[in-house]
Amino acid sequence: MKLYPLFADLKGLPVLVIGGGTVAERKVAALLGAGAKVRVGAPQLHPALARLADEGQVEWLHGGYQPAWLDGVWLAIAATDDRDLNARVAADATERRLLVNVVDDASLSRFHVPAVVDRSPLIVAISTAGAAPALARRLREMLERLLDHTLGALVTLAQQHRTRIVLRFPDLAERRGFYDWLHDGPVLPLLRRAQPAEAERTLLSALNTRGVSPGKGSVTLVGAGPGDPGLLTLQALRALNQADVILHDQLVSADILAMARRDAERIDVGKRCAGRHVPQDHTHQLMLMHAQAGKRVVRLKGGDPFVFGRGGEEMAFLREHGIDCDIVPGITAAVACAAYAGIPLTHRDYAQSVCLLTAHGKDATDTLDWHALANHRQTLAIYMGVERIDVLTARLLEYGRGPDTPFALIENGTLPRQRVITGALHALPALARQHAVGTPALLVIGEVAAMARDRAWFGELITQRPATAAAQMACAEPA
Ligand code: SAH
Repeated sequence: MKLYPLFADLKGLPVLVIGGGTVAERKVAALLGAGAKVRVGAPQLHPALARLADEGQVEWLHGGYQPAWLDGVWLAIAATDDRDLNARVAADATERRLLVNVVDDASLSRFHVPAVVDRSPLIVAISTAGAAPALARRLREMLERLLDHTLGALVTLAQQHRTRIVLRFPDLAERRGFYDWLHDGPVLPLLRRAQPAEAERTLLSALNTRGVSPGKGSVTLVGAGPGDPGLLTLQALRALNQADVILHDQLVSADILAMARRDAERIDVGKRCAGRHVPQDHTHQLMLMHAQAGKRVVRLKGGDPFVFGRGGEEMAFLREHGIDCDIVPGITAAVACAAYAGIPLTHRDYAQSVCLLTAHGKDATDTLDWHALANHRQTLAIYMGVERIDVLTARLLEYGRGPDTPFALIENGTLPRQRVITGALHALPALARQHAVGTPALLVIGEVAAMARDRAWFGELITQRPATAAAQMACAEPA
């Protein structure tokens, strides 16, 4: 091992940072975070450092470097851009048997400052001994994504009850089993749900009564977003990494499924899976069966589970059957498709409200409030509307929405094959047919839709006029 890793308790100890620029400022911030008494030596200070000095949070040693600055400190960091000066500091510190770090200069450093993932009191530190700082940064990013932000709270809880745990499980193997339960079981999800008292109760009851019970199954409803895997949330990614079983919709892309735990069982419950209709009831039973078998089930849905996703019904069903259920929201199609088409859903001048609606389902077009929907100064974002485009358009026009109202039809939003078709409301059915728009597609109606024309930044944009009726007929003739 080229370097000996250690974590230093610097609380209340004087340390020295030489340099007054932004690099020094970052070092000072981290040292203050660890409770050190920081002295900064420099002729001038960057404004943020000067503020800290004014507030008395750091002591400013004003002027050019003097070896006497090193007297009485435990650590020294040289953060100047003068290599000779840095080398002098390093030599003086070494002579005094002080640990010294020279920023970005491994050869002059006695200690290195690692890249850090902070879930205090859990801290992950990464070092390549200065050989590959970019790789250390990359690893840090990966771990940042992977490590739940509530892990710190779990570690604190375990720390508070450590003695109790040791007494309850004197046998090392049993204790290890308990810790496995603590890390994988229901305590962390409770902390994630901001229910620390319940988390502690669960831990204590496991200690006091039955010991570790076999893991109870659970279901997490996870929103996968509209398609682009980059739009998955960190929480969704973590849930996918932990799942034993994933029940997913057809809309969820293969790229997203590929990000899940390799050995997780994946079950397609897409509504039109292999040409067959999978009834909702069957999905309910599958979730129940796997959760009752003690599995961690992820029910993965396109967009957001609670927006036209039947997530509400699934949650109610699981609750009725006593299954633990939580939810990770996703970016819903309206929000994502509009953004990827360059359309602001609200706009100070044109739209004070947005209405998310679906034209699908039993009698949807008959039960909608067309009066309200035909109002100006609002944006309509219509899900599952492609098959009902004729009725939709006719009703809106009939109830008074202007025929020139702009629309944007976004097909395969956020995916590489995204197409955006824009035009005026009266021409919507013709344009949709002319371009053979398929599913999934989201329809935006309202003044803001016109903005796609000069703000679209992703995929293909089609703004042409509808073909005349005569031309359409000519197209229909076999060549
Ligand atoms: N829960 C999902 C909606 C499910 S309903 C969500 O919050 O987004 C399915 C409808 O969503 C589709 O018919 C389509 O109108 C819309 N949709 C979902 N993904 C889409 C995408 N990538 N591009 C365009 N529309 C999409």
